[in-house]
Amino acid sequence: MIFLGAPGAGKGTQAKVLADRRRWTHISTGDLLRSAVAEGTALGLKAKSFMERGALVPDDVMIGLIREKLPTTGEFVLDGFPRTVPQAEALERMLQDEKRPADAVINLEVEDEDVIRRLSGRRQCKNGHVFHADFFPSKKGETCDRCQEILFQRPDDRAETVRARLEVYHQQTRPLIGFYQNRNRLKNVDGRGSSEDVSRAIDSQLAGGK
Ligand code: AMP
Repeated sequence: MIFLGAPGAGKGTQAKVLADRRRWTHISTGDLLRSAVAEGTALGLKAKSFMERGALVPDDVMIGLIREKLPTTGEFVLDGFPRTVPQAEALERMLQDEKRPADAVINLEVEDEDVIRRLSGRRQCKNGHVFHADFFPSKKGETCDRCQEILFQRPDDRAETVRARLEVYHQQTRPLIGFYQNRNRLKNVDGRGSSEDVSRAIDSQLAGGK
């Protein structure tokens, strides 16, 4: 399964919920890249400057990464990949070679103003527990109420970078909506509302509802 949507649409949150509940493998390219940057690996060194300015990491790097990380058996949820048409085409080829095309593509729809509001208030700890300064604050204020680690703002969630990421989304990622629509695999889900509401809407789409 694939999640599409603007930055801050809720892909990460929903992909984690779905993968946990159904025991599917969750593959977040953003998380993989952030760990690589933190560990200073070759991949991290290549990706860092693109991520810091809100640009996309080049397609060949991302396709190589996914080729390495795709599980050979079992179901999986892709969160943050593909983000360009060449990435989607490469993924189609990889999955076709293994005779297991992606079943569903969930497109989480949110307006740009919501994206800006969500990302500018987003805070997280180093273990990936995510909060929002206004909508979902940690009960411990500046530290995580689940693991007590300090909360921080992702460098690419600062206002200037959020605008760059939105522009990149509109130019490079939105065309994937047409790509998957043409293949009859796109399922649109309203990304506004509570995480539980969105999760229910996704379940209903996956069950074949409208
Ligand atoms: P995310 O956590 O999904 O918002 O990703 C954070 C950043 O990682 C993005 O702004 C990109 O710089 C980079 N990134 C993640 N996934 C991809 C991808 N599929 N293609 C290119 N860059 C990516």
